[in-house]
Amino acid sequence: MNTPMSDSVGGATLKEAPSTFNLVMSVVLLAVLPALVYYMWIAATQYDGALPLPTTKEEWLRLWSHVPAPTWTAVGIFAGWYAFQGLLQIYAPGPWVDGSQLADGSRLKYKMNGWFSWWFTWAAIAALVFRKGVSLEAIKDAGEFVYAQFGPVLTTIQIFTFLFALYLYFYGKWKPAGERQTGYAMYDYWLGTALNPRIGNFDLKLFCEARPGLISWVAINLFLAAKQYQLHGMITTPMILVCVFHFWYIADYYYHEEAILTTWDIRHENFGWMLCWGDLVWVPFTYTLQAFYLLNHTHDLPGWATAGIVALNFAGYYIFRSVNIQKHRFRTNPEGLIWGKKPEYIRTARGTLLLTSGWWGVARHLNYLGDLMMGLAWCLPTGFDHPLPYFYITYFTILLVHREMRDNKMCAKRYGADWDAYTAKVKWRILPGIY
Ligand code: NDP
Repeated sequence: MNTPMSDSVGGATLKEAPSTFNLVMSVVLLAVLPALVYYMWIAATQYDGALPLPTTKEEWLRLWSHVPAPTWTAVGIFAGWYAFQGLLQIYAPGPWVDGSQLADGSRLKYKMNGWFSWWFTWAAIAALVFRKGVSLEAIKDAGEFVYAQFGPVLTTIQIFTFLFALYLYFYGKWKPAGERQTGYAMYDYWLGTALNPRIGNFDLKLFCEARPGLISWVAINLFLAAKQYQLHGMITTPMILVCVFHFWYIADYYYHEEAILTTWDIRHENFGWMLCWGDLVWVPFTYTLQAFYLLNHTHDLPGWATAGIVALNFAGYYIFRSVNIQKHRFRTNPEGLIWGKKPEYIRTARGTLLLTSGWWGVARHLNYLGDLMMGLAWCLPTGFDHPLPYFYITYFTILLVHREMRDNKMCAKRYGADWDAYTAKVKWRILPGIY
């Protein structure tokens, strides 16, 4: 699983100063993105999914009045959740695995205990929800509680990420390890000053990318389904589809957890506000928009539409998963067979191998295509009455197209003529025959 926001502002290898555009955008986005999360949540919960467009002072004030303040309960939920996930990261059983080679030739070790932690978390949530006995009432109460706390917890975590990013900023400044820093304080705050900030063996980037945000995204969905049951006495097919798709996506992530170690975010992206806020705020609080929308939109779906959406999701999943795992396996064992044959590859001057057979010989980013197919399947159950629940696929398409361009630029810089040879051989970027 990668973080969404890691692509919002171009930020290739930054030995040089950032462009004025990137500088300005980073400051603008620091203000706009947190507001956007509130806006969409308020639209989904207070305006029935319509996008409010205030024109008068009163309308602006009404919109603003829905921005919740943090509460002590919210702070308790936040602290309890993060501490619980942190303890699992430290103590849950799982193998220690070598990460990719760093610039100095060394490798960091990562504890891969996500699969255990994922299921343990569900057991703990179930124990908490049913602490007074297993009943439908307990499910409804849990849904109501989480729905009511969502806003204050959102504000609490927004504040936390701004403070935590400050810590990350100084972490790299105080412990410079030859990592990318521009010297522009705001920009370094935005993009981070260190690649792998750690407290002892505890990897802050991997933890934030992979634990509290991801699991809470799926948990919030399920609690919203419970809330729908409380409100309407049923859980609709669209709600079930969204919950199952997201649950599957994240369960699959943990099952293949090691694959994150060869992704861009872990290998190349500094850990600053952008990644941290993306992991902890953007993912859980906007990827749940479809479930929020469906809460009070209780339409059903015809059987053919359900079947089509399910097929789209799992076809996308198959492409996404097999492409990512193929690269990961190739990078960890370059001699392993690809589609039953010896792999073909380019050995770059840097020593890295670029796979040119299998999925990676068809297009350079078929993993993005699979992800986009799933993203569309997550939005379609919401119907076509409002654009809001399609925010995910719209933003995600822009993100991945931009990310592909950025990756291409970085790889061209990193690999020079070897990259030219690769792109001459593998022409398509994301969608063979079209792009
Ligand atoms: P990739 O995992 O595709 O990684 C790109 C990197 O792989 C390149 O920078 C290069 O790095 C290496 N590479 C490129 N071509 C080859 C090749 N032919 N053979 C071997 N290595 C190659 O990209 P991402 O990290 O962007 O995405 C990983 C997954 O995460 C994707 O499925 C994406 O859809 C998903 N994602 C999900 C998001 C979400 O919010 N749901 C957000 C962003 C991504 P190097 O050579 O230096 O190793």
